[in-house]
Amino acid sequence: MKNRMPLLLALVCLMGANTMFAADVTLEITGNDQMQFSTKALEVNSGDNVTLVFTNVGKLPVTVMGHNLVILKAGQDMQAFAMAAMQAKDHDYIPQDKLDAILATTRMLGPGESDTITFTAPEPGQYKYLCTFPGHFGIMNGILNVK
Ligand code: ZN
Repeated sequence: MKNRMPLLLALVCLMGANTMFAADVTLEITGNDQMQFSTKALEVNSGDNVTLVFTNVGKLPVTVMGHNLVILKAGQDMQAFAMAAMQAKDHDYIPQDKLDAILATTRMLGPGESDTITFTAPEPGQYKYLCTFPGHFGIMNGILNVK
């Protein structure tokens, strides 16, 4: 029995380390009536349990100045996605034939509304995010940097 202890200890240490690396991270970001995200760069570590809180701090109605935050998977063409999104008014500007391009998304928010989403940070890389309300993505975009 005695000689099994080191292995057991090693396993316990390994499990502890894994738990440590999977940090819980909360990101807060806002969008406003000037069509601006509060930040154009977010950073997390691969494997993190990410909670993202997105708030529309504007005053204009959702029909003229709605905002969402869509994070695309790696290698996606943001412009092509945004163009398809413009045609998807009935689905809050989320193109239903491109759902597999999305890593995570909030719902479309009106003034003063907030949405919280959770996801696991994917493998290291740069992931684009944007607002898909028509005409917004040119300004309302940014990069989620996963280290
Ligand atoms: Zn927007």
